[in-house]
Amino acid sequence: MDKRKITVAGMGPGREDMMTQQALDALDAADVIAGYTVYLELLGDRFGDKEMISTPMKQEAERCRMAFEEAMKGKNVVMICSGDAGIYGMASLMFEIKEELGKDAADIGIEVVPGITAASSGAAVLGAPLNHDFCVISLSDLLTPWELIEKRLRAAAEGDFAIAIYNPSSKKRRDYLRKACGILLETIEAERPCGYVRSIGRDGEEYRICTLAELRDAEADMFTTVFIGNSQSRITGGRLITPRGYRL
Ligand code: SAH
Repeated sequence: MDKRKITVAGMGPGREDMMTQQALDALDAADVIAGYTVYLELLGDRFGDKEMISTPMKQEAERCRMAFEEAMKGKNVVMICSGDAGIYGMASLMFEIKEELGKDAADIGIEVVPGITAASSGAAVLGAPLNHDFCVISLSDLLTPWELIEKRLRAAAEGDFAIAIYNPSSKKRRDYLRKACGILLETIEAERPCGYVRSIGRDGEEYRICTLAELRDAEADMFTTVFIGNSQSRITGGRLITPRGYRL
C-alpha cells in the first residue's frame, strides 16, 4: 500500500464555487500546495496559511520533482491545475516523474481529483455547443508538432465533430487561431456557428457568438476557449446549441 501520496487536483476555471468539494477537501488537508503562480493566486486567501511551491510556466517537470521532494519529507502535497488536472494538466507528468524517480518514489501514491474543464464551463456560458460528439484540440505547438495539430483539425472537420479549441493563441502564436480557422474552412462552410469565451469563471468573463469566417478574424488570447459547432449547430435566443437529435 502507498503510505504517502500526492494529490493532483483540478480547480475548475477559477471561482471557488466551481471547484469540487473533493478538491476543496484535498486543499484543506494539504501541508503544501504546488502550482503555477497564477493558479495559486486564484485560490485566494482561503488557503493562505499553506506552504506554497511554484515554478514559472515551462518548468512543469521541476515543479513535479519539487512536489515529490516535499512528499518524501512526509508532507501532504496537493498539485493544483486549472480546469481538470488530466486535460492538458499535470496528472500524466506526475506519473512520468514518479517513473523517473524509481524506487525513491515507489511508496508515494498519486491521486487524481477531477475538475470542471474549460470545455464544460465555457460551453455552459455559450449555451450547449458540445451536446453531441465533440473533439478537444489544443493549438499549442510547444509540445505537439504543428503538422499533427493540422491533421487533427482536418480529421475533426471531416468527422463533423463539434470542436473545443484550447490554447487558441498567445503572444508568440498570434495567428494560430486564424491558421486553424483557415484549415477548418477548407471543409466547413463560412457561416458555421461558433463562439468563444474569455476568462471563464473569473473577473472579466466575456463571450461572443459568431460565424467561422468571423472567428478567423477574432482576437483570442491564452485565457480564451473557442467552440466550433457541428453541421447541426445553431443559434437560438442568442445562445449556441448543438442539438442531440431529439424529435420534437
Ligand atoms: N487543464 C485546463 C486546460 C489547460 S490548457 C482545463 O481543463 O481547463 C490552457 C487553456 O485552457 C487556455 O489556453 C484556454 O484555452 C483554456 N482555459 C483554461 N481555463 C480557462 C478559463 N478560465 N477561461 C477560458 N479558457 C480557459
